[in-house]
Amino acid sequence: MTPMVRCFVCYYHEILLKKGNRSFFEKILWRNTQKALQGVPYCALRRTSGRLVVELLPESPVEEIGARLQKVVGLIYCCPAWVSSQDMEQLTQDLWKLVRERKFETFKIHARRANKNFPLLSPQINAQLGDVIREKSGKSVRLKHPDLTCYVDVVDQEVFLYFERLRGPGGLPVSSSGKVVVLISGGIDSPVAAYKVLKRGCRAIFVHFHSLPDTTPESLEKVRRLVSILNQYQYRSKIYMIPFSDLQRQIVAFTPVATRVILYRRMMVRLADLVARRERAQALVTGDSIGQVSSQTLENLRVTSDAARLPILRPLIGADKEEIIDTARSIGTFEISILPDVDCCSLFVPRHPETRARVEVIRRIEDGLDVEQMIQETWKRRQIEKIEPQEKVEFNLTGS
Ligand code: ATP
Ligand code: MG
Repeated sequence: MTPMVRCFVCYYHEILLKKGNRSFFEKILWRNTQKALQGVPYCALRRTSGRLVVELLPESPVEEIGARLQKVVGLIYCCPAWVSSQDMEQLTQDLWKLVRERKFETFKIHARRANKNFPLLSPQINAQLGDVIREKSGKSVRLKHPDLTCYVDVVDQEVFLYFERLRGPGGLPVSSSGKVVVLISGGIDSPVAAYKVLKRGCRAIFVHFHSLPDTTPESLEKVRRLVSILNQYQYRSKIYMIPFSDLQRQIVAFTPVATRVILYRRMMVRLADLVARRERAQALVTGDSIGQVSSQTLENLRVTSDAARLPILRPLIGADKEEIIDTARSIGTFEISILPDVDCCSLFVPRHPETRARVEVIRRIEDGLDVEQMIQETWKRRQIEKIEPQEKVEFNLTGS
């Protein structure tokens, strides 16, 4: 008897809700999945009944593939599975072969049918397979919280059997919604904001403002590490590193102390706008949340937005710190974000910053500066760094 083919069955999330333009999203998801699996041996990537199937080779590293698929935005579940037949007798045999190797006291069968021509309904499949497994194993069925759930997914031509569902990020595939420029500091919030827009199908271009030589290179290294983590969702990233200290010095020299941070912010969004123009991005993204710090009062957010040509998206606007930290922990950015560093905005910060800035007042202060010249001089000194997939894993194909 030929051994069952091992595979991963991957389930779409929001793409399922798409009607006329579903194939557009599916194509992008397909390409992203291919990129996610680059460098690992597998047999084929194919589509069946609105699922993606990664067929494995005997030497395929199952855990590594599962971990990579779990980061493909647009997938809600990735299940390490076996391909079985639509013939009930064969299917029963295959299931028993897999179940027999597992330790459990209680179990249930969880069947679903994408192929509506299959002669049995899902409850009938559950009952029939359940009876056989109960007799052969001597174990009992329990519908709530069983030790073992046997998933039986009847698709177009075949049946997938599996026992475990790995949760993916869900959302829409990266690149299906267009490009945005994410202003990333080394803090906790902006990487989470980036993750949120990646999950909405945006491709992120990153921009970071640093104050070298007034700050240490650690903040740059932190940003690189944070982007490397986010890069797992989009496979290739760019960071615009923009030296900000000359511009900051001019603000410090020629403007009132209380409004410095607001002026820094307005300069940042102007520069981010230039990045967006160059990259053909459609919006800017920041990690602001209302009232979290003085620069994030409604008034100050409004004054910051006033300097931008493009809309500023603020995905964390209604989130509290705890929610943000939970997400940061789950995606693995938290531990990096809390490493000590000196951010450019913590330099020359007033003790009592303006919390209720007014657009006209700030514009008048800027009239005393040569804003255009400051932006152009700073822009010239930008450096672009590319982040590639973290490691090119070498797998031993010969097994020796
Ligand atoms: P974060 O944790 O993201 O640093 P924060 O709560 O510290 O956020 P601020 O320092 O006020 O808040 O920054 C608000 C937003 O402005 C950040 O989320 C980020 O999008 C942007 N920003 C701040 N500093 C920088 C920087 N040095 N480079 C790029 N963007 C920045
Ligand atoms: Mg910050």
